[in-house]
Amino acid sequence: MTEARAAYLSLGSNLGSREETLRKAVRQLAAADGIKTLSVSSLYETEPWGKKDQPSFLNIAVSLQTTLTPEELLALAQAVETELGRVRHERWGPRTIDVDILHIEGVERKTPTLTLPHPYMTERAFVLVPLADIAPDLVVMGRTVEKWEKSVDDGSVIRVAGPEWIES
Ligand code: ATP
Ligand code: CA
Ligand code: CA
Repeated sequence: MTEARAAYLSLGSNLGSREETLRKAVRQLAAADGIKTLSVSSLYETEPWGKKDQPSFLNIAVSLQTTLTPEELLALAQAVETELGRVRHERWGPRTIDVDILHIEGVERKTPTLTLPHPYMTERAFVLVPLADIAPDLVVMGRTVEKWEKSVDDGSVIRVAGPEWIES
């Protein structure tokens, strides 16, 4: 792919030094080949989703411009997870870092390894609240992020720091 496209990611951590891990993940993404102009949401503490008996998460959303293909961006996300010590791969279980691709401008995919837009993004407050910080007008699955955000219960998503958290 030669032209840059906008892509939106969701990052979460609920093991170890959660904020530090997220900071390192963002820095690694920003420094990777094929990634430009990255911006980051505020920092949120959130209750676990799906599998409830685990520590709370810190979650953020990231938007970026990329010349990578969707499959290359997934490989980058997984390389960052591995680099930051993600070992267990239990679905919806505890993890030092999870990097999901939410949406890539103009892209739909449904393969065994990549579904875009991310199939659960419109029902997860921990995804929508951070994403609404940086892309409220983005349209996914027929509605803006702001509208999707208003349709979910965001009571268990607590803002713990503004976007400057990434600089500290
Ligand atoms: P969920 O996808 O519901 O958030 P999870 O993040 O816990 O669950 P993982 O164990 O991290 O799931 O990933 C399982 C697989 O999901 C990955 O190996 C990857 O191939 C696949 N996958 C499919 N679509 C995406 C996507 N949009 N972003 C990231 N991974 C995806
Ligand atoms: Ca996930
Ligand atoms: Ca994942």
